[in-house]
Amino acid sequence: MHIARILEASADRYPDHTALVYEDRRWTYREWLSRVRRFAQALSDLGVRPGDRVAFYVSTSENSVTTFFACQFLGAVAVPMNFRLSPGEAAYILRDSGARVLVYGRALTDSTLRIAEEVHSVHDFIGCAYDCSNIPPGHHHFDTLVEQSPDQGEPRPVPARDAISSLVYTSGTTGRPKGVIHTHANDIAIAMNCVMEYSLRHDDRALHIAPLYHVGGMQAYFIPHLLVGGTNVVIGRYDAERTLLTIAAERITTLFAVPTQIQEMLFHPDFARFDVSSLRLVTTGGAAISSATMERVTAEFCSSIFNGYGMTEASLTLVLHPEDALRKLGSCGKPTLISECRIIIDNLDREVSPDERVSQGEIGQLIVRGPQGMSGYWNKPSETQKKLKAGWIYTGDLFSQDEDGFYYFHGRADDMIVSGGENIYPREVEEILYRCPGVKEVSVVGLSDARWGQIVVAFVVRSDPDLRPETIDAHVRASRDLASYKRPKRYEFLETLPINPSGKVLKRELIARYEKASPKQAASC
Ligand code: ATP
Ligand code: MG
Repeated sequence: MHIARILEASADRYPDHTALVYEDRRWTYREWLSRVRRFAQALSDLGVRPGDRVAFYVSTSENSVTTFFACQFLGAVAVPMNFRLSPGEAAYILRDSGARVLVYGRALTDSTLRIAEEVHSVHDFIGCAYDCSNIPPGHHHFDTLVEQSPDQGEPRPVPARDAISSLVYTSGTTGRPKGVIHTHANDIAIAMNCVMEYSLRHDDRALHIAPLYHVGGMQAYFIPHLLVGGTNVVIGRYDAERTLLTIAAERITTLFAVPTQIQEMLFHPDFARFDVSSLRLVTTGGAAISSATMERVTAEFCSSIFNGYGMTEASLTLVLHPEDALRKLGSCGKPTLISECRIIIDNLDREVSPDERVSQGEIGQLIVRGPQGMSGYWNKPSETQKKLKAGWIYTGDLFSQDEDGFYYFHGRADDMIVSGGENIYPREVEEILYRCPGVKEVSVVGLSDARWGQIVVAFVVRSDPDLRPETIDAHVRASRDLASYKRPKRYEFLETLPINPSGKVLKRELIARYEKASPKQAASC
């Protein structure tokens, strides 16, 4: 079975049900399937063959999802690109993937286009008409291609299960994005897993505000809703108010939002006035959500919240279900049915085998395997070797398990702070700071220090502009949950945290920015 079969099966069962909503346009399953097949035909007529890479640099839109599925019909490899990338980063992905075609929208600036035109592998450029008013000579026009191409029905040959369906680039939080190889079999496993974990239904109406160029948005959320014949509502440009208005207007039942998006909605000045009563469930993940935010969501937004942990390499791996959300605050839940998980000793200095497990309660590295796991990174054999050992994906994330088997995230191994010889996990400090009134967002990092090796520094975005470092420090001391050596030695107030579109704080950027800053700039305690 191949992924496009998911779309065909739903179109067969629910031909007149709305499959897709984008801006003011709507497509039934029958209509959208035909549009996807016609675009697949157009790509084929341009010479795209099974295995060829088709990159798309388009804001989240009908064009991006149509391109993704057209590739699946052809057996071509979809390469969704983060449309916020700089010209140099975009060119890196085009070169790395060896893309043959580039589909682009208005997100592509002239300078990125010029750089893209120099990438030798790219033969054809397709501009998305809905998005771009001016398509340069020599480039194709997305809508014209679709209109001129016939719907030839089911494609031949049908892509094999183990053929590559997409290269999904990681978020680039710790370095350059890596192209993760996804096969049709991987993506089908992910979709079925998510339908089951979230109990998705045919009458669900999903709202997409998280990037569809990541696994969390596409494989683990859009495709599962397609599988049940639900309706996918796509917002081109996310903002909190637009999201809240769309929830009411489209009677949205399921919403996936990264923690920062949830924060933005909760902190909208008129939040209480929006009608969000249609929401049946909210899922979050991609980055740690604070316990304080989980409580607020349950009380004020949607009583049914899931916290999913996953990565591009292994997709949804752990899920905390709503019935445990408040009982097990701070947890990422338990492994999904298809995910085999272990926590092993974390040691960067030597190779640790999958059998070297930590005991219950101890912190170590999470490893995972299952049918959703990647077969490797594109073009990166040595990175693949480091990450994939004996079928296990080494996540690089630190976890522990409680006595009931629930998993707790302590941060990336690389983010652990060692101060005066003691290990400090930023998550536990952040959890306490999030409970301080007047704190909106927080990120804790270790900065180099001559005496301690590293010191704990908290970067804080305030909701109360009068909040002082002394007040936060008093809150930390009063909470009694943090040993004194873990207390931040410095507080830095920022207007916003540097956050990438998957909701991850770019800690390395904070560190680089502030290691240079003079200690006098800091507000220390
Ligand atoms: P790169 O690998 O390029 O540095 P990245 O790891 O951020 O980027 P992704 O694959 O998008 O790229 O993100 C996976 C990571 O996100 C996980 O390894 C984990 O650190 C974090 N993460 C995902 N879900 C959660 C969650 N629910 N709670 C805490 N952290 C999470
Ligand atoms: Mg990663």
